[in-house]
Amino acid sequence: MMRLPTFEHKRPASLRQAFDLLKDSSEDSLLVAGGTDLYPNMKRRQCEPRTVISIARIRRLKRIIGNQNSGLEIGANTVLSDLGADPVVAKYYTVLSEAATQIASPQIRETGTIGGNLCQDTRCNYYDMSYEWRSGVNFCLKHGGNVCHVASGSKRCWAVFASDIAPACMAIGSRLRLASSRGERTMPARELYQNDGAAHLRKSKDEILTDLLLPPSDGLISTYLKLRRRDAIDFPILGVAAAVRLDSKGNCRYAKIVLGAIGSCPVQVAEAEQILLGKRLTQDTIESVATAAYRVAKPQDNTDLTFSYRKSMTKVYVSDALTKLAAKAEYS
Ligand SMILES: Cc1cc2nc3c(=O)[nH]c(=O)nc-3n(C[C@H](O)[C@H](O)[C@H](O)COP(=O)(O)OP(=O)(O)OC[C@H]3O[C@@H](n4cnc5c(N)ncnc54)[C@H](O)[C@@H]3O)c2cc1C
Repeated sequence: MMRLPTFEHKRPASLRQAFDLLKDSSEDSLLVAGGTDLYPNMKRRQCEPRTVISIARIRRLKRIIGNQNSGLEIGANTVLSDLGADPVVAKYYTVLSEAATQIASPQIRETGTIGGNLCQDTRCNYYDMSYEWRSGVNFCLKHGGNVCHVASGSKRCWAVFASDIAPACMAIGSRLRLASSRGERTMPARELYQNDGAAHLRKSKDEILTDLLLPPSDGLISTYLKLRRRDAIDFPILGVAAAVRLDSKGNCRYAKIVLGAIGSCPVQVAEAEQILLGKRLTQDTIESVATAAYRVAKPQDNTDLTFSYRKSMTKVYVSDALTKLAAKAEYS
């Protein structure tokens, strides 16, 4: 059995208290919300913070306000089961609801938060082994070593970002609010990420993700499909988040496809927009978008199943997601 290392546990009751704690100790402290990602990582000694600052008591971070017309403001401490069960999210931002309800297990969804999901660590077959195993083969680029066991000779880490929520947020054009003792800022969800497995988050250590901001729904039709070995518990080895808005003639006036779990950050299929905008969701356009997604998907050999299978499934899943949207559009 793997045990947690020793650490000091702080439980601020407000954002202000959390900012002060982070200011005093940001070099050797880490935030925790539900702990379903951080604590297993600490057990594997992937990180050993001296202080863990729990934001779970901060009530301001656990709320869902607004509606589909104004847009929704969802606090970062909202647990995945509440996100999945919210009727407005399910009806108007379906991609988020479908992503949330497919994560892990009921127990983890009751504890794991949106903020923790969006800021979770990257994963890799080599990195996610015990400390002893990793020390036996030499530590990798992601943890103090100078070798990548996935792509030897690589100067960068290829660990995979396997969040289900992040691609869903990006597909519907969500923004994120981050705050620190220096003030707050908002940015498009896609700007939180960069394609480097060892440094995938573009935020400073003292910043807390406080809210997920959803735009007005405005006729959004969306869905999330997830590939994994088992139908429960498993992380995605491919996630496809698809969203469209159609005009009165059924032509796309908004279209986004975002792929998850195939790289160190979610990948937006830029060509999808070019192909779909102004067109109907016919079999031909769907086929062209699926082919474009297949081209940009470059999974590595560092998660479950083979990378060639995961790449080939991109085409199938994108095609299925758009076919599902076309059927939804017909009945809406
Ligand atoms: C068996 C198992 C299966 C899983 N399956 C999936 C899956 O299928 N899909 C999936 O997406 N995830 C999966 N996860 C990962 C994880 O459970 C979820 O992503 C969960 O939402 C993480 O939320 P948390 O609150 O527990 O995060 P925590 O563990 O509390 O935090 C995770 C990271 O985010 C940081 N953090 C947390 N909150 C904030 C914040 N507000 N601002 C800034 N930083 C913050 C922490 O410092 C930490 O680095 C799985 C985990 C396990 C153990």
